[in-house]
Parts: sequence; C-alpha cells; structure tokens
Amino acid sequence: MTIVVPFCGRITPRERQESLDAINAALNNIRVIPFEDLTDGERRTARMAVVANPDPEDLRDLPMLEWVQSLWAGVERLVEEMPHNAVRIVRMTDPQLAQTMSEAVLAWTLYIHRDMPVYREQQEAKRWLQHKLLMPEDRPVGILGMGNLGRVAAQRLQANGFPVTGWTRTPWTKADIPMMYGPSGLETILRKSSIVVVLLPLTPQTRGLLDDWRLGQMQEGAALLNFARGPIVDQAALIRALDRGHLDHAVLDVFEREPLKKDDPLWANPRVTILPHITAPTQTGTASLLAAGNIQEFFDHGRIPEAVNRELGY
Ligand code: NDP
Repeated sequence: MTIVVPFCGRITPRERQESLDAINAALNNIRVIPFEDLTDGERRTARMAVVANPDPEDLRDLPMLEWVQSLWAGVERLVEEMPHNAVRIVRMTDPQLAQTMSEAVLAWTLYIHRDMPVYREQQEAKRWLQHKLLMPEDRPVGILGMGNLGRVAAQRLQANGFPVTGWTRTPWTKADIPMMYGPSGLETILRKSSIVVVLLPLTPQTRGLLDDWRLGQMQEGAALLNFARGPIVDQAALIRALDRGHLDHAVLDVFEREPLKKDDPLWANPRVTILPHITAPTQTGTASLLAAGNIQEFFDHGRIPEAVNRELGY
C-alpha cells in the first residue's frame, strides 16, 4: 500500500511540480501529493507533511500531524503560524545551500573589498580616481550567526585571506574560527569588523538586533551585508547610519516586506545595493533528496530528524 504525504506550499506551480517530481522519484511506497488532491480520509490520517511557505489553514486540516519537513532553511513564519506546538518542524539543512550562501558571502564581500560600488559611481560620473587598495588581511569580517550557513561562509572567507570572527548564542568549543558570544561579544565584533555579515535566524531575540545603538558601534566606514532576514536590521536606523556617512555601504538581500515596495527609499540610496532575495535559493535537486531521505526514514523506522527548538525559535 502506498502512503500518501501532503505537500502544502504557496510557491509557483512550476516550483511545486519540480519539487514533487524530485521528491517522489527518490521515495519507495510513499507518494507526496498536493494538499488539495488529498481525500478527507487522507487528510485525517496524514502523520507528516512537506511544506514550503504553507497556508496555516491547510495544516489545521491535518489533525494527526506529527512533523513537517520544510523545504526552506528559514522557519520563523512556520514557528509563528503552526497550529500547535506538538507538531515538530524540521527545516532544510542542505550542505549545498551552505555552499551557495558562502559563494554569495564571498562575492559581495569582494564587491565591498574591491570598492565596486565606488568605481561604478565614478564611471557614471566619468571620473578617473584611484583609491588605495587594501589587502584582504586588513579587512576583518564579522559573521553574526555561525550555524549551517555562517560556518561555511566563514571558512570560505578565511580561505580567501579575510580575518573572520563569528558570533553565536552558545559558546562553541571546536572553533577553528575566533568566536564571540553574548552582548559584549557582539559589541567587540561590531567595533573590530570592516564588514559585518548577518546570517542569524529571525527570532524574538534577533528582531531589531541591529538598531541605532548597535549600528553606531560599527566601525566608521564599515559595510553591512544582510542575507538572513530583513527585520533583524532596523531599516530606518540603517538609513540614518548610511546617510550620515557612519556606514559606507549595505548589501541587502532580505527586507521587512518582500518584494520591496517601489516607493521604498532604499531603492534610491546610493549606499545601498538591493538584491531580490537571491543569495541562496533552495536547490531543488539536493533539497528534495534530503527531504525524501527524511520521509523514507520516518515511515520505515519511525525516526524524526532534529527539529526546531520552538522556545528559541530556530
Ligand atoms: P542555523 O540555525 O544553523 O544557525 C543559526 C546561528 O545563529 C547559530 O550559530 C546560532 O547560535 C545563532 N543565533 C541564533 N540566535 C542567536 C542569538 N540570539 N544571539 C546570537 N547568535 C544567535 O541557521 P542557518 O545557518 O541554516 O540559517 C540562518 C538564517 O539564514 C536562516 O534562519 C534564514 O533566515 C536565512 N537564510 C537566508 C537565505 C537567503 O537566500 N537569503 C537562504 C537560507 C537561509 P548557536 O550556534 O549558539 O545556536
């Protein structure tokens, strides 16, 4: 008998079909099908679901749900919207995603390091002006959040000559990278880094973390890369720090509201580079294989992978 697993997601039909095809190709005697194609009986008995930005109403229709496999790494919305705490949330922890993010972190660190925004502006003004070239060794980078993504990004930056320091919540013993913890650690990292990269999850503790005060602790002329979630950085405070020249540049891939509204002042700010949430999209091939492996393991052996800590929110 084939076990039916619901797929709940608000993504494009093409993305959904690609994920379904790839996950189903890797499963034995289990079939993941769109939520709306489930019979009432299948909804009543479904023990797990695959989700990608699901409609909370759909999940409420699955009373026996024990866990969900998210195809995404960021789960703050799921944590907020999931109907009851008993349902475990397993997020996407794909090593390929970490590689993709580390490439983005390196690319945009080099963009700042080699003064690309400045030379672009000079070209527009037909201005020939050479700026002093710093070595990567002279450009300390601070990474806020040293989880699956932050660690790989830190190693990639180190391999390219940048001195890296990481910041986490809990002390991390096996660190091959200098690490800092807690509020005083954050202050030190902000003060000593020329480039600060945000790779934290959005939780009640990290929402608005980089406010006027903390942005003010950053080095004069430093740059900020936010590739995690928009609300971690107070946007109005960031604009103030950029406009008064305290910070030199911000590369933003994530925003409080996405897509960014056409009348948002950020678009026109010459000190801001805007990316439309593209630094590390889920790779369907590898993510689907990981999800399928977890699903098969659950139905064959009853094992649920490590889940999000609901109290911490990540
Ligand atoms: P992880 O959960 O693996 O790592 C999170 C890290 O943040 C951990 O090091 C954790 O510390 C640290 N952290 C959490 N809360 C705090 C806090 N209050 N103070 C200090 N450190 C804290 O997450 P990932 O690395 O997989 O992903 C990070 C985020 O990146 C995701 O939540 C998602 O929002 C975003 N993302 C963005 C993408 C994009 O395309 N822009 C793509 C994918 C993800 P500790 O080690 O102590 O637990």
